[in-house]
Amino acid sequence: MVTARIIAVAANRLLAHGTHSRKACIQCLAGICRNLLVVLALGGPISDAIAQIDRPQTPATPYLIAIDPGHGGSDAGASGARSAALEKNLVLDLALQLGKVLQTEGNITVAFIRNSDVTLDLVRRTEIANYSQGTLLISLHAGASNNLNSHGARVFMIADKRQQDTASFAAPLNQLRTPLSASPVPRLPTLRLIPWERAHELYDAPSAALASALQSSLNMLYGTQYDICSEPLFLLKGAQMPAVLVEVGYLTHIEDDERLQKAEFQQELVNALKNGILDYLANSRRINPK
Ligand SMILES: [Zn+2]
Repeated sequence: MVTARIIAVAANRLLAHGTHSRKACIQCLAGICRNLLVVLALGGPISDAIAQIDRPQTPATPYLIAIDPGHGGSDAGASGARSAALEKNLVLDLALQLGKVLQTEGNITVAFIRNSDVTLDLVRRTEIANYSQGTLLISLHAGASNNLNSHGARVFMIADKRQQDTASFAAPLNQLRTPLSASPVPRLPTLRLIPWERAHELYDAPSAALASALQSSLNMLYGTQYDICSEPLFLLKGAQMPAVLVEVGYLTHIEDDERLQKAEFQQELVNALKNGILDYLANSRRINPK
């Protein structure tokens, strides 16, 4: 089963590798060869990073939330307008807090894409999320904006840049579409040769529902009335689950920077994220009770 999933990831990479630069493509193929060798030798995981995942072999809880603290290691992300805070540290802290409160719900397990200060590229992050077989993926950022007035939390889902072209493959994709269920195990056949950049299309509707639930909850916290945003974000493209990216606030905004440093506000923020996730899970259960 694990081997089949790894080969599926490799196949997806092969199908997607036409969009890479030559250097990236060589790295990609080298990665595939390494992964397959690991599979053949050990029947084990696709990469060292994935091997670090605490992935339940037999799910103990109905939901598995994959949490991706953005940046990390040599990529510090944004820095505070006034504080010395680095985005990579702040979002790791928030992710660990969020994981803790989610797991107190009793029916949720958490998989962290990173739980320490390590450098991870975007492909690896999505690979790890997919390997975790999560119910959903939430990526946390506390970004920078050229507009120093940008503040509050914004929730992003993947944009479909090729919306005009999708008619030709919409029907086959619809056949593969399966309803969001309470189960954290894959809702799709193990071997799905869908190009990496199209994987998200199976989950656009639940991703929008998840983004809306989170944005509503965060609007209440910040007193904003933002709608969800759609962007062609690479991290979300290959996610084989509902996936969103959350800017929990803007470190480049003086007031956001100040409040994001406070333990009390961090707790409120984590609770707002938790409530958004729980609202989404409750709604998806109502729509797909099985
Ligand atoms: Zn960021």
